[in-house]
Amino acid sequence: MNREQRRAAAKEAKKNSNPELEQKIGLFSKLPDECLTCQKPFDKTDKKMVMSWNVVVREQKEVVNLYCPDCWAKAIEIVEDFKSKLEERDATNS
Ligand SMILES: [Zn+2]
Repeated sequence: MNREQRRAAAKEAKKNSNPELEQKIGLFSKLPDECLTCQKPFDKTDKKMVMSWNVVVREQKEVVNLYCPDCWAKAIEIVEDFKSKLEERDATNS
């Protein structure tokens, strides 16, 4: 492969960029501007917010769910509580 061909190949590779990545970026543009649970406003340009809020992507449905840190903590609490209840039940049943 000579230099010219290599350059052409690189250009071609760039053109056919990763469709999966493009889909992810597409989903990112679908990012809601408020918390799904409490409707607290979300500022996409606020780096601190972007870092602390939680994004759940349902790729098959192309839906992006956004949770503020408070609602996320509550959700985890509920899940943990649910899990411990299940474990308790399992423990008494066996
Ligand atoms: Zn919230």
